[in-house]
Amino acid sequence: MADRVETLKTSIATVSIAGDFREKLAAIARAGYTGIEIFEQDFIAFDGTPVDVGWLVGDYGLEIMLFQPFRDFEGLPEPYRSRAFDRAERKFDLMNSMGCDLVLVCSNIAAAALGGIDRAADDFAELGERAKKRGIRIGFEALAWGRHINDHRDAWEVVRRADHSHVGLILDSFHTLSRSIDPQTIRAIPGDKIFFVQLADAPKIDMDLFYWSRHFRNMPGEGDLPVVEFMRAVAATGYDGPLSLEIFNDQFRGGSPVEIARDGHRSLIGLMDDVRRSEPDIRLPVPDIPPRAHCHGVEFIEFTTSEEEAADLAAFLAVMGFTHAGNHVSKQVAHWRQNDINILINTEESGFAHSAYQAHGTSVCDIALRVDDASRTVERARMLGAETVTTPAGEGELSIPAIRGVGDGMMRFIGIRSDLAALWEIDFVLVEEAGDCTGVGLRRVDHLAQTMKYEEMLTWTLFYTSILEAAKVPMVDVVDPGGLVRSRAIQNDNGDLRVTLNGAENQNTLAGHFIDRTYGASVQHIAFACDDIFTTAEALAARGFQVLAMSANYYDDLGARFGLEEAFLARMQALNILYDEDERGRYFQFYSRRRSGEVFFEFVQRLDGYDGYGAANAPFRISAQKRDLTSSPFAGVDGGVDAG
Ligand code: MG
Ligand code: MG
Repeated sequence: MADRVETLKTSIATVSIAGDFREKLAAIARAGYTGIEIFEQDFIAFDGTPVDVGWLVGDYGLEIMLFQPFRDFEGLPEPYRSRAFDRAERKFDLMNSMGCDLVLVCSNIAAAALGGIDRAADDFAELGERAKKRGIRIGFEALAWGRHINDHRDAWEVVRRADHSHVGLILDSFHTLSRSIDPQTIRAIPGDKIFFVQLADAPKIDMDLFYWSRHFRNMPGEGDLPVVEFMRAVAATGYDGPLSLEIFNDQFRGGSPVEIARDGHRSLIGLMDDVRRSEPDIRLPVPDIPPRAHCHGVEFIEFTTSEEEAADLAAFLAVMGFTHAGNHVSKQVAHWRQNDINILINTEESGFAHSAYQAHGTSVCDIALRVDDASRTVERARMLGAETVTTPAGEGELSIPAIRGVGDGMMRFIGIRSDLAALWEIDFVLVEEAGDCTGVGLRRVDHLAQTMKYEEMLTWTLFYTSILEAAKVPMVDVVDPGGLVRSRAIQNDNGDLRVTLNGAENQNTLAGHFIDRTYGASVQHIAFACDDIFTTAEALAARGFQVLAMSANYYDDLGARFGLEEAFLARMQALNILYDEDERGRYFQFYSRRRSGEVFFEFVQRLDGYDGYGAANAPFRISAQKRDLTSSPFAGVDGGVDAG
């Protein structure tokens, strides 16, 4: 269970996650929230009285912080006006029974609404008086598509003129930011007149506001809206009430309640940590957590496999120029190395790696990243709700801090200035004849490609960007002959951290096939960087490495697209090297024909600051791989396609 951060009151609207009411409450409580916003629909669908709802929520250790929505109230002519007050009284009955004292009234969208800021203020003054008698407070929210009130500044003016102790403002980051209203205008509102704050982010999409809001909202940090700026302005007012997530998202409705609730809590803590860092003069009820860690690259990648398959993987690594450099002092783990790249082959028959082998087959079970301070990195991750893992280390061996990552894999952290940096001397016995391990010129891990179901992409985007110093690159669609794959890179400023997240929507894509075959392992390919792609490709060919063959048409098209010289094209074609350019530089890449388990390898060279991943080439590479799968000499040996 995540730590409950006592001082910060966190909440989530029950509409934000899937499940029946009890499932939702269990997931919300487990993630560490203080309370919930209850949606009327959840109550209506619930089989019990309002009093039962109140008890049930209390049983989970949660408070009902807000009841919503109460719609189409202000500015109505008679007889609608009287009816609206009658409706409100009935909601007050319900709220009294449930034990909830704040209701959200969203701005009127009805055609009958007359407008007029004083008319609205008068309505709220009267509603406030009635609510006060019932021990209830009224919060007014400007919907971005409200008929007359669609801006928090106007809603605040209504509240100001209503001038009633039981009438206040509700701010919602989506309604303000989706209309590009400057969040700085919030700083002029008195904090004690803000009764509640709802937070949501969203990807930048140009579409109808209502549709955008109802289907594409996501957790703060998952989208593109300036939610940190919004929250900095809210914090400046002195507001110290609950921060609540009100998220309408199609992916979340189909996702795991536990994971979505956890992502939400992570997003709130991460957001407030960002606000705290950018507003050092404002006292905020947030814990002091270590900053995001800068990643200095990949220290090692660990494969789990069986004794029999290990020989095959080792032979594959040898062909790619890796050297067997050492063996673990107490475990069945072999260390293979080439320059700055370390690959481990784990064939233990118990423990985490073995469980991962049983679940996913030969696959990457562990990724170790270099950071400045490993324990502070894990501490940050833990406070953001990540699952920390302690693995038993033998006597004299190093215990490497770890958290649970994508696909249940392990993510470890190695402090570059700690004794963990001496891992290879302490935990491994060197193979005498290992030599200099320069191989075919593969220098370091350029990127890791992790594949997941499409609905998990936001989870893992938030995982990386909240724990590490990393930005998310805009999503690209990769057309696989079997369907669409969404791809998004997570990377840091100097390119020491590069992970691509690939979301598969169906099993007919290569990515979907991977998930199917591995039962949800994560790493689908590993890209190694070299300094001279032609030299490396030739050296690999000389060692018997089989490259993925590209079609002649690809090179015809390439020549036409970039105006490349014939001789240069011919040289690339001879070695099956793919090419791309961005506004800065050039990119060369080629792929292994074969896979180990379901993992394949990529070889890249970046020139002049090229910052992409050759997305334009992906459809052709995928087609080549699919063509190859049906005729692979390795089918059945290394897990090629042998099942329909
Ligand atoms: Mg709202
Ligand atoms: Mg790649």
